[in-house]
Amino acid sequence: MKKFAVFGNPIAQSLSPTIHQMFAKSCAEDISYQKIEAPLDSFEATIDSFLATPQTVGCNVTAPFKERACAMAKHKDDAVMMARAANTLMRNKKGELCAFNTDGIGLVADLTNNGLNLQGSKVLLLGAGGAARGVVHPLLNAGVEHLHILNRTVEKAQAIAEDANNPKVTAVKPEQLFTDYDVVINSTSASLSGTLPAVPDAVLANCKLAYDMVYSKDNGATIFMAHAAQLGAAKQLDGLGMLVEQAAAAFSIWTGKQPSTASVIEYLRNH
Ligand code: NDP
Repeated sequence: MKKFAVFGNPIAQSLSPTIHQMFAKSCAEDISYQKIEAPLDSFEATIDSFLATPQTVGCNVTAPFKERACAMAKHKDDAVMMARAANTLMRNKKGELCAFNTDGIGLVADLTNNGLNLQGSKVLLLGAGGAARGVVHPLLNAGVEHLHILNRTVEKAQAIAEDANNPKVTAVKPEQLFTDYDVVINSTSASLSGTLPAVPDAVLANCKLAYDMVYSKDNGATIFMAHAAQLGAAKQLDGLGMLVEQAAAAFSIWTGKQPSTASVIEYLRNH
């Protein structure tokens, strides 16, 4: 049996064990996948000890430990370097710790699954936290032509644009915004507190898709989705598909197998 876990604090809310057990079943893998609350003062020791136990393959890491997971790793993929945060860990054959950030792969997969063609597209990213950083390279790799970043704290959006070092990525002020984005992605955590990030109504009204990285617990619309719908945005989506797709990318890194995701997303929507 292959052993996995997700580490966070708190962690009780995590859907990862359900998601990975469904992947394992569809890929004929026998796994255990625990959720473990790591103490704030001994995250690194907790990870080291878990990865040293027999049959362990890897683990996921969630808030508030993603930056510390990045700092621990010897090898980091491009998304981790940009995000300075990791959500997936495993040791290589030499025993060295390798870190991955699959959030951006998950976002791009979910957008594509939902019919959005990112090639040549115009994207507005609201927010400039770890999640925003993690999706910049995958969006560029998917062919995005204009990636605008708008954030409450302007300097954080500017820092991402500088680190991206690509003319397609710009930190924008409200007056520089387009009114014809293919997708407006809310990567702020505002929906969790029932608030909205500041964005002009016309921007949301005219976008093809309003995407909230937060997913709603009761399967209804998040406050951001409801607001965009009211303004006339053509389509709204929450981040449940992204959650499942980022998990699928981690599962694939660990096992070399690509699980099917549609049935898992459907199951979680209905339960
Ligand atoms: P961070 O704490 O790193 O960043 C939060 C961002 O939200 C900051 O840019 C902050 O702005 C902004 N923000 C917070 N509250 C408000 C508000 N009321 N109005 C405007 N802006 C606000 O969080 P992460 O980037 O790690 O995560 C962001 C969200 O994405 C979380 O809700 C998380 O659950 C979700 N997420 C979903 C995933 C999925 O698979 N679906 C994967 C990863 C993340 P400022 O810089 O000004 O403080």
